[in-house]
Amino acid sequence: MSYHANEKGYYGEFGGAFIPEMLYPNCEELRQNYLRIMAEPSFKEEFHQLLKDYVGRPTPLYFAERLSEKYQTKIYLKREDLCHTGAHKVNNTIGQILMAKKLGKNRIIAETGAGQHGVATATVCALMGIECVVYMGEIDIARQAPNVARMKMLGAEVRAAKSGSRTLKDATNEAIRDWINNPVDTHYIIGSVVGPHPYPDMVARFQSVISEEIKWQLKEKEGRENPDYVVACVGGGSNAAGAYFHYLDEPKVGIIAVEAAGKGIDTGESAATSALGKVGIIHGSKTLLMQTPDGQITEPYSISAGLDYPGVGPMHAHLFRSGRGEFISITDDEAMTAGLEVSQLEGIIPAIETSHAFAIFDYKKFKKEDVVVFNLSGRGDKDLQTYIDYFKL
Ligand SMILES: *Cc1c(COP(=O)(O)O)cnc(C)c1O
Repeated sequence: MSYHANEKGYYGEFGGAFIPEMLYPNCEELRQNYLRIMAEPSFKEEFHQLLKDYVGRPTPLYFAERLSEKYQTKIYLKREDLCHTGAHKVNNTIGQILMAKKLGKNRIIAETGAGQHGVATATVCALMGIECVVYMGEIDIARQAPNVARMKMLGAEVRAAKSGSRTLKDATNEAIRDWINNPVDTHYIIGSVVGPHPYPDMVARFQSVISEEIKWQLKEKEGRENPDYVVACVGGGSNAAGAYFHYLDEPKVGIIAVEAAGKGIDTGESAATSALGKVGIIHGSKTLLMQTPDGQITEPYSISAGLDYPGVGPMHAHLFRSGRGEFISITDDEAMTAGLEVSQLEGIIPAIETSHAFAIFDYKKFKKEDVVVFNLSGRGDKDLQTYIDYFKL
């Protein structure tokens, strides 16, 4: 069994493209061209050049000595926090802006919740001089003022979604409506391994540079390409998909996915999709999502905005259902404590999303000789106010 997408975009029973007919031409154009374009030498060359010179890749694979000492196992950190803009998201937006150019598009739209994907999209649009419209829920615009300012400074237009709960899912609906109305000139940059086929596979391939680098970096440091475990936090699942990608079909590499339990799985304020989700369709993809008994999507909750998503990408739903991945949910409190610990043991302040991954040691025991790679998806600067409020710093 393979854990990669098949040609119809299915991971086991999950994935596919459940889209309104009016969106079919847009997705079909992308589906028919994405693999061919990604295989073109000119595309690969430009993608890797920008990852190197603009994003700052390869990101280091760093042996965390004090953390390893504390937990009695060999811990490596894949430093995606050192990417330009402070997280892994830009790997994908660089790939998609180049894809859009190859498809002859001159306008970009995106949706954003916390604003991180909006900033990564606005960044690459500025880089390429392409018009950029970012849809964002009215409530999120009020909550995430610094990222709204960043997007504006980068030249993007931020459009408020004023319907429904005025958060991410409403912004997504507005973006889809825009795309239906502008099928010829516009490309829609989705920010995680979610959405209709081919998005989950395309985004996973762009992010797969993470595990491509881990392989040779670990070979240099440990004499072998494969760790015993790869650990990543999962919101939609893109940083995790990138960190797992080249290990999916290596059964000896353990895959650990960390979700946000929020205030606790049973509190009604959680984003632990594997624990709480049921099969359904969200953003054009069949996957696990949190929903009411009559199928309404539940509003998720997590202290970290990037994990505050009611579903997971279809790859992760399949990793969970098949048992290939081990899923652990971590509460706000556990994540915050772990984030403080990593800051003080390693001198690295992680994004609160990533802090969830560092809180697994109470739930998962490793052997002394195990090599465990944590994907350090982003840096904590954006979360400083949340850390300040939480720890009364
Ligand atoms: C957005 C974000 C995430 C969650 O998104 P995925 O698609 O699950 O990777 C995790 N970490 C950071 C730092 C983020 O910005």
